[in-house]
Amino acid sequence: MRIEELIRAEVMDMVGYTPIEPLDILSKQTKVSTDNIVKLDGNENLYGCSPKVNVALGKYPYFNIYPDPEQRVLRLALEKYTGFNSQQIVCGSGSDDLIDLILRLFINPGDKVINCPPTFGMYPFSTRICGGEVINISRDRDFNLDIRGIIKAMDDRTKVIFLASPNNPTGNCVSIEEITELLDTEKIVVVDEAYVDFSNNSMAGMIFKYNNMIVLRTFSKWAGLAGLRIGYGLFPTEIVRYLMKIKQPYNANVAAQTAVLASLEDIEYLRNNITKIIIERERLFSKLKEIQWLNTYPSSANFILCSVQKDANIVVNGSSELNKGPLARQVWYQMRMKGVFIRYFDTPGLENFIRITVGRPEDTDRVVKALTEVVKNV
Ligand SMILES: *Cc1c(COP(=O)(O)O)cnc(C)c1O
Repeated sequence: MRIEELIRAEVMDMVGYTPIEPLDILSKQTKVSTDNIVKLDGNENLYGCSPKVNVALGKYPYFNIYPDPEQRVLRLALEKYTGFNSQQIVCGSGSDDLIDLILRLFINPGDKVINCPPTFGMYPFSTRICGGEVINISRDRDFNLDIRGIIKAMDDRTKVIFLASPNNPTGNCVSIEEITELLDTEKIVVVDEAYVDFSNNSMAGMIFKYNNMIVLRTFSKWAGLAGLRIGYGLFPTEIVRYLMKIKQPYNANVAAQTAVLASLEDIEYLRNNITKIIIERERLFSKLKEIQWLNTYPSSANFILCSVQKDANIVVNGSSELNKGPLARQVWYQMRMKGVFIRYFDTPGLENFIRITVGRPEDTDRVVKALTEVVKNV
């Protein structure tokens, strides 16, 4: 029996998502101890989570009991935090879970989803798993959206459009005029605000005016809870009814729920870390600007995107094949051997780009030092 014949064709054909690896695996791969690793490849929060999270998890007595399928306590806490009614809120196992859930709600096989690369890889990934067709409308050289192109590409099969603001990995935001134009097309417009806390530029207010507007948020980045997997969406109430119906009943686990409640009790501490990251972003930006062989893009998020210039003279260390090929990958490889982890891209529109997460001042110092060491002196 050939199992492959039973597997859905779109799954057989699709390329997988390129995830990042956790600390212990990176440490094993590179023989750099976890304490010495500077992990700036996942846009995680280098300040960690609130210490109140650790206390709350240590004291939580009911790990043996399933979580509330209605997420009542959590949604009420988020009602207080966001100013949206709990009837407009759904939580998921990370906002990745909500991306998948939204697509499962709206996409019939062959329906179209508009994606604006370079952007977050989960949108095309989840679309394909749901049997949808990804329509890529690329951004321009400065990573601005092609609104005319998006609208022109829409037809009766177009259901959903995804936009991240600030966008990952480019760091720029969508404007209110652009969003309005897209909302007026009456397709479902998902604005992914995973990094909004580093930009203060939320579009969520539009939900009150448009019943086709969805905003996604996460605790992974600003609150340092990436490992616990918890995000939420703000929706028109009529969409929430159906999402609550089709979601996995226990998709927000009790550890994550407990961590969110503790985080919301420690907002001042977390906001202070956000402020530090924003200050550090500007310091890292000016340091990167000084590096001749990089072209650095401004960012409203907790990472910075750079392109590696074609004449960059990268050192060769060791005999790996990774000393050849795309320059950005060579930079990534040389940095990695020093225990400094960044992300590199080699996809259309992002050939020879690297993305560096903004960490603490000491992380900036390490990454800048490593960058200066990976080029040969000329
Ligand atoms: C990190 C990220 C997310 C994923 O958030 P999770 O809540 O950890 O699933 C969503 N969207 C964008 C644009 C991201 O960069």
